[in-house]
Amino acid sequence: MAYDPDNIFAKILRGEADAAIVLDEKHCVAFMDVMPQSPGHTLVVPRQPAENLFDLDADAWTELMATTRRVAHAVQAAFEPAGMMLMQLNGPDAGQTVFHLHFHVVPRYPGEGLAFHARSMADPAELQEHAARIRAELTSG
Ligand code: 5GP
Repeated sequence: MAYDPDNIFAKILRGEADAAIVLDEKHCVAFMDVMPQSPGHTLVVPRQPAENLFDLDADAWTELMATTRRVAHAVQAAFEPAGMMLMQLNGPDAGQTVFHLHFHVVPRYPGEGLAFHARSMADPAELQEHAARIRAELTSG
């Protein structure tokens, strides 16, 4: 499949679609998942137009891993979940639904069901508040 420059994450990266932005840097952007599996569910997205992990340059991969680690620490500090799941669904047969590479940082809380996708949209104001909490941890850390 060829990379589609009009996928929703490409639009968010270009500022053409809204998102609750957590981090906006040279190599990566992070924002709240619009259908969070749990409070604090954040997506980390490389700027390079890569559909999946096999399309990303090695240097960009290194940046993506380092940024994912920083975001995971900030989410942990902001939400203090009992556990955390990092996921990258690579290809449709692995459950990928948006074809611009991304990592999910998913806080896990006791008693939650474990799933790869949620079904309901979050309140945009709540996502903005969650993004602000994570940003505060990124700038303090
Ligand atoms: P994938 O299935 O590709 O691993 O994950 C795609 C994720 O993107 C899903 O968790 C879904 O909720 C999220 N998502 C889909 N559309 C949008 C959107 O327009 N904005 C944001 N912030 N997240 C989205």
